[in-house]
Amino acid sequence: MNRRAFLKAIGSAALLPILPRRLLASTNFSRRRPSDVAWPSQSAWKQLNEAVGGNLIPVDFPLSVFKTDPDGAAAKLLAENIRNPYYIGDQPGLTQTLGWVDAWATKPSVYAVAARNAHDIAEAVNFARENNLRLVVKGGGHSYQGTSNAPDSLLIWTRHMNDIAMTSAFVPQGCEQTLKPQPAVTLGAGTIWMQAYDAVTTKGGKYVQGGGCTTVGVAGLIQGGGFGSFSKHYGLAAGSLLEAEVVTADGKIRVANACTNPDLFWALKGGGGGSYGVVSKLTLRVHDLPEFFGVANFTIKAASDDAYRSLSREFVSFYAEHLFNDHWGEQAHVNPDNTLVISMMSQGLDTGQAKKVWQPFLDWVARTPQAYSIEGRLVIGSIPARRMWDVQWWKEHWPEIAFPNPNGNLLIGLLDYGLVHLMRQPAFDFDHRPGAGPNNAWWKGDAGQVAWFIWGYESLWLPVSLLESDAQQRLADALFASSRYSGLALHFNKGLAGAPPDAIAAAKDTAMNPAVLNSFALAITANGQGPAYPGIPGHEPSVVAGRKAAERVDRCMNQLRALVPDAGAYVSESNYFERGWQQAYWGSNHPRLAEIKSKYDPDGLFVVHNGVGSEQWSADGFKKL
Ligand SMILES: Cc1cc2nc3c(=O)[nH]c(=O)nc-3n(C[C@H](O)[C@H](O)[C@H](O)COP(=O)(O)OP(=O)(O)OC[C@H]3O[C@@H](n4cnc5c(N)ncnc54)[C@H](O)[C@@H]3O)c2cc1C
Repeated sequence: MNRRAFLKAIGSAALLPILPRRLLASTNFSRRRPSDVAWPSQSAWKQLNEAVGGNLIPVDFPLSVFKTDPDGAAAKLLAENIRNPYYIGDQPGLTQTLGWVDAWATKPSVYAVAARNAHDIAEAVNFARENNLRLVVKGGGHSYQGTSNAPDSLLIWTRHMNDIAMTSAFVPQGCEQTLKPQPAVTLGAGTIWMQAYDAVTTKGGKYVQGGGCTTVGVAGLIQGGGFGSFSKHYGLAAGSLLEAEVVTADGKIRVANACTNPDLFWALKGGGGGSYGVVSKLTLRVHDLPEFFGVANFTIKAASDDAYRSLSREFVSFYAEHLFNDHWGEQAHVNPDNTLVISMMSQGLDTGQAKKVWQPFLDWVARTPQAYSIEGRLVIGSIPARRMWDVQWWKEHWPEIAFPNPNGNLLIGLLDYGLVHLMRQPAFDFDHRPGAGPNNAWWKGDAGQVAWFIWGYESLWLPVSLLESDAQQRLADALFASSRYSGLALHFNKGLAGAPPDAIAAAKDTAMNPAVLNSFALAITANGQGPAYPGIPGHEPSVVAGRKAAERVDRCMNQLRALVPDAGAYVSESNYFERGWQQAYWGSNHPRLAEIKSKYDPDGLFVVHNGVGSEQWSADGFKKL
């Protein structure tokens, strides 16, 4: 239904008798679908539309034009934009991941409230609760597990709630006697990290801990815990949360912070998105910027399996001795083709200091040229930290420089501060749609995941004990064994061992699995294809290839699991089919989360796949078990 037809329909429906709400309420525990007689009447929808200032919208499924009119102008426009995360984010009927083999495929809601504020959200929450509807919440739309879409549902869409305000002296409500004022930024729940970084770093000269991917939403990331490239220094993104405004299942707009509703506040810090209420805004601590952010990017190829084993062993011990500190984050990849890809980022080191750190390892590699070669360019250096997300600065400096993508494994060049060393491809991709914001940019290395259809994805925290000298050989052997099945990345910024004490203390006071505190890295292995979607001729996901890949991904991670069977996984970047997910995601924090869930959402209005309390619901979130 298009917008005009919808408005017409709800206009005429106003003539229909309005049934008392109680008669519409279901007596069993099944959520209503549009095919049910008790689905809200057109006049009820009209009332909701009025209550939210005309911002109730019918949700289209943009991909359907590939079927209905594959050669038409709309299909052409969609094909041009389907790899643009800003375009996808602007569609209430799409998500950044399109699905996962044998798990889910994105589906639009029936209606969305394009919320402007907490009041609109409260109206939508009340409407869903009173009419027994399946409710979903979407911000940046980056959930790998499909937790921000559901067919036959009402969507609360926060995309346009992206006000940002910096303050130099923030005190959480009710904490006036206990907490000192501190610099902070308040972000509407629909803000994406690029918007936050532009305000806080490029314009404000400060730092806020968010995610690596520029188009991830702030509310989804914080509720998962949240890591960025420099988390080894600044800690979890959720560790910097000072206050949230949140609408709970009873429709109340609440403040949550260390002094007011502290239990809810704690659950929002890593307890998983979409389970406790709808966040309308967040206030995060801002930190000082270091002088430099930098990169070490290069690929070493080993000539044989034996040489690769030795390389893995050498890298593990080099990491433990030289890189295991709060200067270095991001990734090292081990791959089936016997390459070790270094895609790491630094904070607080100039180019000379960064090069000095790496020299002993590069010397070791150079000593055996018959066994090892550097493929492509070797790039180690830094740029002024304030320019990290300054899109205009990047544009002006291209093509002389490019900077690394924090999330991906593309090899990209950089500026040796003060000296232009390389000329390589730009680091960012841009939103070229007419009227697109000037900062609508995303790291090239994240581009592969836009409109992605996942085959397999797993993560595992690696405890710091594996870096002890008597364990290093076992770790290196396991990395080698993993790499026989699939590429595997060690995300050093996603384990907080080695972080400063204040970052650890803040992380301890979150709901995240305490395993994160003692882990030096999060191992991630994944595979997928895109764009792909079931039922679209020529763009169908490869189910057979996908299942095989999923098996390889699983075997790959099993090599590390053999070392640390109960290590845990990061809720936001993990397996849809995670075994024992309650323990894997939250460890000893799960029982407390379950209590908080039943306190604030006793009837399960907020249900997401493998979210706290979701065991009580069918897989589609419609039936109470
Ligand atoms: C390409 C890519 C790169 C990524 N990079 C990183 C990274 O560098 N670091 C990292 O830590 N993670 C990363 N992630 C994972 C990411 O943090 C999570 O997927 C996160 O949940 C996405 O938030 P979102 O708002 O974009 O997604 P959404 O899909 O909109 O939301 C995710 C979940 O949060 C809920 N939610 C969203 N908004 C609200 C709200 N206002 N109130 C209540 N619940 C809400 C949704 O219901 C859903 O359950 C990445 C994901 C992708 C796809």
